[in-house]
Amino acid sequence: MNRPQHIERMVEAIKRFPGIGPKMAERISYHLVKISQNEVDRFINSIISARAAMRYCSKCFNLSESDPCPICSDDLRDKTILCIVETPQDLIAVSKAKEYNGLYFVLGGALSPLDAVGPGDIRTDLLIKRLREDSISEAILATDTDSKGETTALYLAEIIKPLKIKVTRLGYGLPAGGDIEYADEITISRAISGRKEM
Ligand SMILES: [Zn+2]
Repeated sequence: MNRPQHIERMVEAIKRFPGIGPKMAERISYHLVKISQNEVDRFINSIISARAAMRYCSKCFNLSESDPCPICSDDLRDKTILCIVETPQDLIAVSKAKEYNGLYFVLGGALSPLDAVGPGDIRTDLLIKRLREDSISEAILATDTDSKGETTALYLAEIIKPLKIKVTRLGYGLPAGGDIEYADEITISRAISGRKEM
C-alpha cells in the first residue's frame, strides 16, 4: 500500500532539507500528523516569524535580527582582523570559541568547480571591497577543511595577498575533510591560536 497522498507531499517537501534522507523525511511527516495542533501551530509560527525577522547584515552577511549585526556593531571587537567563513553556522561555531575577538565575513558557500560554483557565486567581490575599505591587517581563512574549503582558501589567499594584508589559515587540530560548523570550541580555539600564514 502506498503512503497517503498528503503524507507523500510532506515527505517530498521535507526531503529537500539539507541532510534529510527519504526515511527521515517519512518519520518527520508521520510525527507532524501525530502531534497536537498546538505543537504544529508553534512549529509553523516559529518558521514564519524567523523568516520575517532574519536579515543579512550588510557588513558581514551574517544572518541576524538587526543590521548591522551585534558583532559588527560591537565597539570592543578588534576591527583589524577579519575571519572569513563559509556559512552563518560556521560563524556561530567560531564565535563560541572565545579565542577570537575580531570581525567576520560570511562568503555564502565555497568554490566547487565540479558543481560549477565559481568566484562569482560566492561573495568574493564584496569581500575584496570590505578588505579595501576597512583597515584590515589580517584575514583569517576559516573555510572548511574539505576539498571545496581548501580550494576556496587557496583562491582567496591569491586575491587577498596583493592587497598587502596578512593571510592566515586555521591551524592544526581541525580534522581534514571537516566542517567548521561541527567542530567543538576547544578545537576551534586551538586552530585559531595555531593559525599559519599562507
Ligand atoms: Zn555583521
